[in-house]
Amino acid sequence: MSTSTLARRAIAETCAHDTADDLPELARALRSGLTGTSDIVAEYEAALARLYDIPHVIAVSSGAASVNAALAGLDFATGDEVILAPTCPICTVLPILALGLVPVFCDVAPDSFGLDHDDLLRCIGPRTCAVIEVPMWGYPVRSDLSWELLRRRGIPLIQDLAHCHLTRLNGSWLARIGDICCFSTHDCKFMSTGEGGFVMTRDRKRAERIRAYTRFGNLSGETVGINLKLGGLQAALGLARSRQLETHLAARLRNRRRLLAALDNPAFRELPIPDQGEANGYALMLQAVAHDGRQLVRYQMERGIPSDIGKYDNQPLFQLPMLARYRRDCPNAASLLRSLTTVPLHPDLSEDDLDYIARTLNDYTPL
Ligand SMILES: *Cc1c(COP(=O)(O)O)cnc(C)c1O
Repeated sequence: MSTSTLARRAIAETCAHDTADDLPELARALRSGLTGTSDIVAEYEAALARLYDIPHVIAVSSGAASVNAALAGLDFATGDEVILAPTCPICTVLPILALGLVPVFCDVAPDSFGLDHDDLLRCIGPRTCAVIEVPMWGYPVRSDLSWELLRRRGIPLIQDLAHCHLTRLNGSWLARIGDICCFSTHDCKFMSTGEGGFVMTRDRKRAERIRAYTRFGNLSGETVGINLKLGGLQAALGLARSRQLETHLAARLRNRRRLLAALDNPAFRELPIPDQGEANGYALMLQAVAHDGRQLVRYQMERGIPSDIGKYDNQPLFQLPMLARYRRDCPNAASLLRSLTTVPLHPDLSEDDLDYIARTLNDYTPL
């Protein structure tokens, strides 16, 4: 069937996250405490610690706050360098600048959002204080290999997993790799508390330092900190919704399997996933074969199928005026971003939505 006979649908970009537990947990927070130091925040942190089997969790007010707090858990001097790929959102870079640190843009491996290890070795210098891996749209990267390389050199690895709740690598959570990991629970992410985020680490000392930073240095007057705490109402939502994460994951993976089974257009393929990894269905990433993927982005958006790549116009970050001075040659990053589009997989998509997406994409012919 050709597209002309397909009735156009407007596909929702994201889903409602509400669960039956939301109201009872919100009511409990209203009765017992709204501040960032209330018991419900500690309960939420404990639930996340159990889920990921990582002992220390610090709930914070946003994903950007989680990156800021993670960096504050490290030793550095103003002007020290943080290595990351230019394919990440600017949200990961701005906290680096805010702390007086310098971003160093490292190329990604071919057809991956993971760092290219040859280029990573070129980027590492005497002022490197951290490396951040930013796997995008739920697709795992080989951050285990980056960690191995960095550990030998005593450089901490942070993972910004804003897109990667429940993404897997090597039979476990991707989140269990690296020294510190960061998450966002903004409403458009895999798990939502409206605004929010959290930081996780296995290192107790580092966790204490990060927590203190998010609470004005515990008001001790000994260390610097600001207020990045998550409020009680957001934590109540997080607690309610953390119980639904496995169900939410299963629905997304079902949609992913269904779409992949229905797609048969050789003009694109799914972004490759490392053999040892499993994506979380945050979005389906399609890569245009032998043509410019921006054509595919335009095509789907004209037909009511949202694409994050179209929405955010993703380019290597040093194309932005304020980051131009940090430009480095990153050929893989530039060609990766030009080749990609995303397709929603969230649990609110109906079977008709999925059929429409599959048929529309199967009808695509690059010019
Ligand atoms: C969304 C996002 C952030 C910022 O999260 P907020 O909760 O919006 O502050 C940081 N890093 C990545 C990779 C993101 O996708």
